[in-house]
This record gives sequence, structure tokens and C-alpha cells, in this order.
Amino acid sequence: MKSVEQILASRRLRRTTVRKRVLLCFLSSEFALSQHDLEQALPSFDRVTLYRTLKTFTEEGILHKIPDDSGTPRYALCHDCEPHAHQHHHVHFKCIRCEHTECFERLYVPNISLPKGYEAEEFSLLVQGICPRCSAHSNSK
Ligand SMILES: [Zn+2]
Ligand SMILES: [Zn+2]
Ligand SMILES: [Zn+2]
Repeated sequence: MKSVEQILASRRLRRTTVRKRVLLCFLSSEFALSQHDLEQALPSFDRVTLYRTLKTFTEEGILHKIPDDSGTPRYALCHDCEPHAHQHHHVHFKCIRCEHTECFERLYVPNISLPKGYEAEEFSLLVQGICPRCSAHSNSK
């Protein structure tokens, strides 16, 4: 796993406090995070600053956005993305009980062929269900 410093240096981004703190949140979380999660975790930064930081990281291929039906996008770390060229065809899983979203980096969305004239820009597959932590919890009752 790369360090915060290495990630910022690899994109030639200035090492501002907010960037370091936001990245650290992602590196230390096993789940995807929404802007709201970051606001709670880093109350000393205002929403606009956090929003801009997320936007920069997404553009630079450090984070990817995971669409969510609740209207609150979540973000997760990219592993091998280049700036402006995200390669994400992996499946995301959202638990309907704990509402945590995870990346399944090794599960790929199958390549689908679209009707003539349509061009895909982004692929996303969000599976919703119960995660092992929540199902273990309900079985033990
Ligand atoms: Zn990416
Ligand atoms: Zn769960
Ligand atoms: Zn992902």
C-alpha cells in the first residue's frame, strides 16, 4: 500500500493538509466514503474544501466515484488508474443493513455490447444485499 506522500507526489499535487487528511481517511477505511462521512471525520474543513479535494482526487485517478441510488455518491481509492483515464470495471457491493459500500477489485463487470450508435463512458454495477458481517450478526440471534 502506498503512503499519502507517495500518492500525492505521484500526481505532482501539493501536499496540503486537507489532501493528506482526506487521503488518510481513505487509506484507513475498508469501505467507500461519502462527502458526508468526510465532513464528520474532518470537521475542521469546510464542505467546499472537501468537495474540491474529492474532485481533484477523482480527476487525478486517485479516487473513483461509486454511484449510489440514494443520491449520495461514495468514493473509493483507485489502485492502478492514470489521471483522466479511470479503468474501473469492477463490481461494487452495498450492504442494505450497515450501508457500507465496498469495491470488489477482482470481480469484473462483463463487457456488454451496446446497440449501434451508443458509446459507453462508464460502467458500473452496484450489487445491494447483506454483507458477511451483518449476516453473521443476524444468524447469532
Ligand atoms: Zn480509478
Ligand atoms: Zn452490512
Ligand atoms: Zn471501486
